Amino acid sequence: MLPKLCHDWAMGTFFEPHRYDLHTHSTISDGTTSPSEIVQEAARIGLAGISLTDHDTTDGWAEAREASAAAQIEFLPGIEITTTHEMRSIHLLAYGPNEAYEPLQDKLDYLRGARKKRAAEMIQRLRKDFHLNWDDLIVQADINRVQSLGRPHLADALVRGGFFRDRSHAFEDALSPSGPYYVPTATLSTVEAITLVRAAGGFPVLAHPAAFRMRRPVAVEAIEDLATVGLGGVEIYHPENRDDWITPIKERAEALGLVVTGSSDFHGEGKPNRLGEYTTPEEVFTDIRGRVATPN
Ligand code: AMP
Ligand code: ZN
Ligand code: FE
Ligand code: FE
Repeated sequence: MLPKLCHDWAMGTFFEPHRYDLHTHSTISDGTTSPSEIVQEAARIGLAGISLTDHDTTDGWAEAREASAAAQIEFLPGIEITTTHEMRSIHLLAYGPNEAYEPLQDKLDYLRGARKKRAAEMIQRLRKDFHLNWDDLIVQADINRVQSLGRPHLADALVRGGFFRDRSHAFEDALSPSGPYYVPTATLSTVEAITLVRAAGGFPVLAHPAAFRMRRPVAVEAIEDLATVGLGGVEIYHPENRDDWITPIKERAEALGLVVTGSSDFHGEGKPNRLGEYTTPEEVFTDIRGRVATPN
């Protein structure tokens, strides 16, 4: 077993201090809690800091930053960028890029636009078998804040319609990539995204490279290739990484001198992942923060 942070939910306290959760999603993308609620929960359970990494948007940063100052925990701005490398979906975490760097914002705009179009296309397909329309997607309480639409929003609409018990059941059934309703969303190439993040002064980290939902882990050769174009780290400790798949990746990442991170990929109530379930130690956090254009 990979080391999991020991904590006691009943007590609400961590046994290990100075830990950071560097991968979280809010209602700005497909989480169910606001940026400030994530920060407040992080402070409550004793985390030293978090990164907010909503999909393809920097919109939640300002709120999370302000809430972190109030809660007296550290904040590192982040994004999870939708990319593809050699026909394989890759999620790229980008820490601390300059938010004002227009080439990056232009690409994020493009990705969010593509997500909206794709959600509309999936609704068209789902309508054949489920009573669902665009408005069902928009009734969610915080929907006006959503910048980045994804399958979780379709899942929530299906749950509200009474078709599935929860998000996870909708994902396994109607929203599965192998099902008839699935439409892929447009992506950036991973190499292009890494280059862009570096140009923006950010630090790119490969998210969950051994997630069990994938048919196979990201190949170690691909990680080597991405390291040569500027990949800075790999998210080794993640609730969805399979132990047997992640072990060779961890060895190679360390041999390549890449930074190793751990995070929960918290999505509020939308996913079983719990905030602080996996974490990154202070020295790694400080290392990443020291290498970026926007460290807080
Ligand atoms: P999409 O990027 O739109 O294809 O949707 C995939 C995203 O849904 C990933 O970022 C997942 O982390 C997220 N997600 C949220 N809740 C769930 C869930 N219950 N099961 C699977 N994926 C989920
Ligand atoms: Zn997500
Ligand atoms: Fe992801
Ligand atoms: Fe994520």
